[in-house]
Amino acid sequence: MPFSKLGLSDKVLAAVTAAGYPAPTPIQEQAIPHVLARRDVLGIAQTGTGKTAAFTLPMLTMLEQGRARARMPRTLILEPTRELAAQVEDSFDKYGKNHKLNVALIIGGVSFDDQDMKLMRGVDVLIATPGRLLDHFERGRLLLTGVELLVIDEADRMLDMGFIPDIERICKLVPFTRQTLFFTATMPNEIRRITEQFLHNPVKVEVARPATTATNITQKLVKAGRESHEKRDILRRMIRSADNFKNAIIFCNRKREVAQLHRSLVRHGFNAAALHGDLDQSARTAALDSFRNGSVALLIASDVAARGLDIPDVSHVFNFDVPHHADDYVHRIGRTGRAGKTGTAITIVAPADSKSIAEIEKLIGQSIAWADAPAGASSDAADAPAEARHNRDENRGSRHRSQRGRIGRNKHQDKHQEARPSHNGHRQSGRDETPRPESGPPAPVVARLEDARHRQQPRPAQAEPAEHADTSHLPAFLLRPIRRKA
Ligand code: AMP
Repeated sequence: MPFSKLGLSDKVLAAVTAAGYPAPTPIQEQAIPHVLARRDVLGIAQTGTGKTAAFTLPMLTMLEQGRARARMPRTLILEPTRELAAQVEDSFDKYGKNHKLNVALIIGGVSFDDQDMKLMRGVDVLIATPGRLLDHFERGRLLLTGVELLVIDEADRMLDMGFIPDIERICKLVPFTRQTLFFTATMPNEIRRITEQFLHNPVKVEVARPATTATNITQKLVKAGRESHEKRDILRRMIRSADNFKNAIIFCNRKREVAQLHRSLVRHGFNAAALHGDLDQSARTAALDSFRNGSVALLIASDVAARGLDIPDVSHVFNFDVPHHADDYVHRIGRTGRAGKTGTAITIVAPADSKSIAEIEKLIGQSIAWADAPAGASSDAADAPAEARHNRDENRGSRHRSQRGRIGRNKHQDKHQEARPSHNGHRQSGRDETPRPESGPPAPVVARLEDARHRQQPRPAQAEPAEHADTSHLPAFLLRPIRRKA
């Protein structure tokens, strides 16, 4: 069925033509007529299926009538991460270029005041992460009683991130009579319960997973030892020797590992940026922008970047860590091989990962071939002690941080950090390893060595406990230097 038969307005059809889409995707074809008929929709689909346009296009058509009032948004779209929220805003820019609608993005990590001014002016489409939305509501800056249409996107991801209580609260704050569009990739019990509670006689639209793992992605496993420095060594060698390499997203399981690997790659002269939920929003946006525009070739990321991010031209995905959930593997490697291009996904496998690999292979219904780590004269054996020392200190610091963090903080609050960031920005340890420029690095993956050296200027010396003594159990005052009389 062509787009013109779906009931979309002329303005929207003009934008679709300008976007160059030949025909609606299955989710668009099935969902759009129901959305326009004001039915609730339960869409079981994941990113990559065209689901954003499946709700954006009919919303634009419907919003052509009526206008917004101050502090009372007409429609509300909830997204689990700021990046996804920003991406939906981009869709409204793209498809809504023939409309004069006020679209506001309400996400954590950026100024309240600018968002408040937008809300004050009246908003046709409010795109928000749950935490920041509720913050505005609690400050009395936002009324949800004018919401005619609510979109809950990536609901199962919201569940993973602990946002379901917020979603339930928001669902109770918007009028009972609103229309609800609910998208999820999977249907765990908790999500089923929410749909039964908040959707009214929904039309269920289900589209197949876009082939669990696309055939245009070459997947490989590479064996590594247990230690992080061994994995870093293998990763560097694989980046240097990769065929058709343009750029890569490198996934780690933990934010701390992202920061650590980022520092290590930069020290080794690679041109890299980091993206994880503890970075402040400007750092997250800058990292993504620099990767998108090609000024950095490596993006080291936590799973915040695994779902939904639409970067059309990623040649490689590396799993520095095997993901704990097999689903995440599919999401991660789906960042490459997009828009019909080919891609390569390489997973570094430590001895403890065999169970996770078996689960992944079961989910994708195929076994993944093993490849040898590329041989190479590496400086890494020499690196090991320095990196190990560095990591020991990192781990010690973070163990303390996380122990402190656990006190008075529940799991739910912790998870909120993805949407409500800490304001501490990018944590740098203040320590540095000896710079080890490597021979013959391929441009542009490797930053100019002068730049790397510039970044590696020694930082001002900090008082540190002696390497050999474990002083982590001592109270801070005992570690202060002793002043002696001359
Ligand atoms: P989404 O699943 O919403 O993240 O969309 C994935 C990608 O599909 C985006 O890059 C869209 O621009 C693209 N897309 C959306 N609808 C269509 C369509 N009808 N034909 C071709 N590409 C589309």
